[in-house]
Amino acid sequence: SDADANSAAEPNTLRTPIVAVLGHVDHGKTTLLDKIRGSAVSEGEAGAITQHIGATAVPLETVSEMAGSLVDPSDFDLPGLLFIDTPGHHSFTTLRSRGGALADIAIVVVDVNDGFQPQTIEALDILKRTGTPFVVAANKIDTTPGWNPHEGAPIQQTYEKQSQNASQRLDSNLYEIIGNLSDEGFSADLYWRVQNFQKNVGVVPISAITSEGIPDLLAVLMGLSQRYMKEQMEIDVAGPGAGTVLEVKDERGFGTTLDVVLYDGTIAEDDTVVVGGMDGPIVTDVRALLQPRPNAEIRTEKRFNKVDSVTAASGIKIAAPDLELAMAGAPIRVVRDRELDDVIAEVEAELAEIEVDTEEEG
Ligand code: GDP
Repeated sequence: SDADANSAAEPNTLRTPIVAVLGHVDHGKTTLLDKIRGSAVSEGEAGAITQHIGATAVPLETVSEMAGSLVDPSDFDLPGLLFIDTPGHHSFTTLRSRGGALADIAIVVVDVNDGFQPQTIEALDILKRTGTPFVVAANKIDTTPGWNPHEGAPIQQTYEKQSQNASQRLDSNLYEIIGNLSDEGFSADLYWRVQNFQKNVGVVPISAITSEGIPDLLAVLMGLSQRYMKEQMEIDVAGPGAGTVLEVKDERGFGTTLDVVLYDGTIAEDDTVVVGGMDGPIVTDVRALLQPRPNAEIRTEKRFNKVDSVTAASGIKIAAPDLELAMAGAPIRVVRDRELDDVIAEVEAELAEIEVDTEEEG
């Protein structure tokens, strides 16, 4: 048909997969995210990571530097990984896109010594419900009695250098986690034994403190995304932007603003957008698109840089009039050359799917 011919001519490209971190409290979610951000920065490359609003973008080149021999950039055409900065179940369940999860892929962090805990099981239930692919990061391997740490090493390399006692202790903790996953209905194994990541959950032993196994974790995330999510990552870059509101915030000089994760298309200054609000969809025009200033510029008065437009996947702050009643978790759509009423109807339909949880914090 004509419609097919048109869509074939559209400028499709691959966007960054959006990664969320889940797991029980104190199992190391925040430390892992900080480590990924920190070591990417210390690779010293200019632009090694980009701090977005609410998210951190790690480009393929940086993933590859951090993962060493485990990630050959020529094997991939996905541009990298976008990590949502707020770990936890609340942000995961509030952040949706078109009825599904906003995150394309998740990391479930489990403390190897503490094992499965109530929020571990809760995380797995959420991922089951949303059908989100995930890997399990068996964290804190450095706390294994007798562990001899090898900063930043791939897991096999450091594992080979452990005493038999230490490696046996780690093994038995890992097998317990694999058993627990199986009790929850997931067929799982140590990641290097997994052939098909769509059928089996890969378990990656890591330490968020010594970075051991983090090369493996990044390699598994890239591999899984490239292999099984490539089609999902094909977006019409120039198309009207679609995103999810992370937070509604007052900013000095800008009034009420929206922190948004854009997962499709482009949003530009002066675009008309439709946003989900407490009293229904809000129609407004984008006054400014703001990104955080790099640390090097932090001493200047202004905290944000203005940009003309952004393309998915990215985190962006949007300043516009009439945002007071906008809601965290709500959809935002750029209207562009579509009928305003159609876009409003689209946003209304999505709002209807969002269960209003009055217990929600902030
Ligand atoms: P969250 O609640 O899941 O975000 O957990 P945090 O990242 O706050 O970590 C909880 C505690 O565990 C902190 O004291 C961390 O320093 C510690 N921790 C996290 N990861 C590791 C690890 O790999 N090894 C060790 N030894 N401690 C860790």
